[in-house]
Amino acid sequence: MDIEDLAERILAGERRALARAITLVESGRADHRAQARALIERLHGHENVALRVGLSGTPGVGKSTFIEAFGMMLTAQGLKVAVLAVDPSSARSGGSILGDKTRMERLSRDRNAFIRPSPSQSHLGGVARRTREAIDLCEAAGFDVILIETVGVGQSETVVAEMSDLFLLLLAPAGGDELQGVKRGIMETADIILINKADGDLKATATRTCADYAGALRLLRKRAQDPEGFPKALTVSAVEENGLDRAWDEMTALSDWRRETGHFEARRAAQARYWFEAEVREGLLARLRREPVKGAMAALAHQVEDGEISAAAAAEELLETYLGEVPQV
Ligand code: GDP
Repeated sequence: MDIEDLAERILAGERRALARAITLVESGRADHRAQARALIERLHGHENVALRVGLSGTPGVGKSTFIEAFGMMLTAQGLKVAVLAVDPSSARSGGSILGDKTRMERLSRDRNAFIRPSPSQSHLGGVARRTREAIDLCEAAGFDVILIETVGVGQSETVVAEMSDLFLLLLAPAGGDELQGVKRGIMETADIILINKADGDLKATATRTCADYAGALRLLRKRAQDPEGFPKALTVSAVEENGLDRAWDEMTALSDWRRETGHFEARRAAQARYWFEAEVREGLLARLRREPVKGAMAALAHQVEDGEISAAAAAEELLETYLGEVPQV
């Protein structure tokens, strides 16, 4: 594969090249990995800065309906919109909550939109890397907005928040005044909480739910990266396409403020560092599973089983042999 040619076609915004490149970064083959790394490295430092928007919500809350309506609104304004998915269910079972091809039919036919379902990969770490690289590729291809969608399962929200400039939480209207068991960590991660389905019979409930969340958000410690009034809660109706423009206004107001104050870049820098450290840890673990360490580990494990050496001493011996000595603390 001619990486230079592929890179140039991506930079020129060719969708087929982009699709091919994402397939490349999804591959687990060693030669493909090397090519993917070379491609990402080649594209590094391109000019376009997209707005990366993470979106989380449980199945049925209306994510695909929202993304389709929201995406169509943005493309109508002349913006190029990419949609990626992080789906932990597909990592676990090969089955996917988000990968269904019939979702977002109108948006997928839109020339200014690019939709890529989640790949079925072996573990969330692999999905995280693939998504980060797919984001890089979409950004290099000139997309203005990149929506990264996930279901609120396990670690996937943290993963998506760590690759987004803005993080949205989509919720359904809930009866009563109890907050919907939304984990505090996710509340703290969200920049904007959208209460969807604010239409018809659900409208009053949605308005109440929104007020409940607005109250809860006001109790959170103010974050340095937020102007006054954020994080905030809004009602939307994806079906009636209500409140989407307001949501976009709030998103751009927040990201403009962060750009002006340097928080936008600082957050990206912190994320780059986070993923660098995650890659080092993953790389270390991968090397532990390979020869010669794998064999040495198996041999030492036998000695530990037989009581010839303590677990701690055996571990230290292995690590010293392959990684050098650690200064005593
Ligand atoms: P996802 O699983 O989060 O992607 O949710 P979907 O977008 O597939 O929507 C789940 C169901 O909720 C579907 O039956 C939608 O028609 C419905 N739905 C989505 N958005 C709205 C909305 O704004 N109002 C109402 N009343 N229903 C909605």
